[in-house]
Amino acid sequence: MAHLFPFLPFNVDETPLSWATRLSALHTGGRLVPFLNDLGISYLSIIAGATDAVTRLCDATGQDPAPVLRNAVQKIGKRSYSLRGQVLSAEMLVTPDTRFCPACLVADSRSGLPVNAARYGRVSWRVKTIRTCPIHDMPLIARRLGQWDDKLSELAVIVPESNDALQGLAELAAKRSPSPLQNYVLQRIDGAKTHPWLDSLSLELATTMTEKLGAILTFGTDAKPRELSEADWDAAGVAGWAFSSRDERGVCEALALMQKRAAITRTNGIRKADIFGMTYPWLANRRTFKDLEPVRTVFRAHYLATMTGLPDDLVFGQPIEEPKFSTPNKIATLEGVDPRTLRNVLVGKGLVPAASEEGACLCLLYTSDAADE
Ligand SMILES: [Zn+2]
Repeated sequence: MAHLFPFLPFNVDETPLSWATRLSALHTGGRLVPFLNDLGISYLSIIAGATDAVTRLCDATGQDPAPVLRNAVQKIGKRSYSLRGQVLSAEMLVTPDTRFCPACLVADSRSGLPVNAARYGRVSWRVKTIRTCPIHDMPLIARRLGQWDDKLSELAVIVPESNDALQGLAELAAKRSPSPLQNYVLQRIDGAKTHPWLDSLSLELATTMTEKLGAILTFGTDAKPRELSEADWDAAGVAGWAFSSRDERGVCEALALMQKRAAITRTNGIRKADIFGMTYPWLANRRTFKDLEPVRTVFRAHYLATMTGLPDDLVFGQPIEEPKFSTPNKIATLEGVDPRTLRNVLVGKGLVPAASEEGACLCLLYTSDAADE
């Protein structure tokens, strides 16, 4: 079979879409969609990483399809994708943004190829948690033009700057090392198993939990996911990793730290979201199609072991069957007695410190069995 000439090899860290775009620049000097049309390949199939479309493109060029398919982010369901066996939801991908490192693109341009056939998109740039270039230690830049073809990620269109202009962007960038969470994600996509408990979770669950824990500890319980910048999320990943990398025990330490802070900063009216911030609505949501149960189980077990509650109270989306702890006010409500009377009885029995009579319920932990005596 005749192949397109000259041969333009696929880069081992490249996306199939980027390679197709470089082929179109080299062989036609034009854009991606007409080039693929000429080959009878649907651009939507290439975007979706479809095996037959990628294989046909490889057949047309003489490229071994194995490394290309290895980097294909393949659509496997509604808003669900797979990269080297790791399931990624649409929320884990940066589409319709295109991320790039200006210094990497300048380095690409030194290959001797025409600039639009030289600069290429890395597959790691497609994953949301990857926010820092590990070669140049700088934040990746995200860009979209607000047009239908943003999803093609054509660098020649989205990043048309000269090398000098890109060099200027690189020099303006803040220095930042890749977060340990980013390193973990990259190693896991490469097939490494480094943290047994995190590895047992889906990649999305492991990263989302780590970032949310870190976001609360760094920016407080009032922090809203939509209000945090990419730099904030990167910092959150660093903070959360210090706990989640030590498995369930580390996660429970982070939860205990949140409880301690809530008890110090709030004197009354503590809601669960005042303690656990954005993790509470995330895990309490029972309508999501995502499987949050492995993390929800850890959070609930920690809550039930340390916090007050009553039967049927909802905790992370599930009712409590038998609370370990309760408060005078909650027991009084349940038993239909006057809360002040109950408190006085408990203080008299030495079960509740007199000084804490009016204090926050969070501080008033005791077993309801003892109160029944
Ligand atoms: Zn770079």
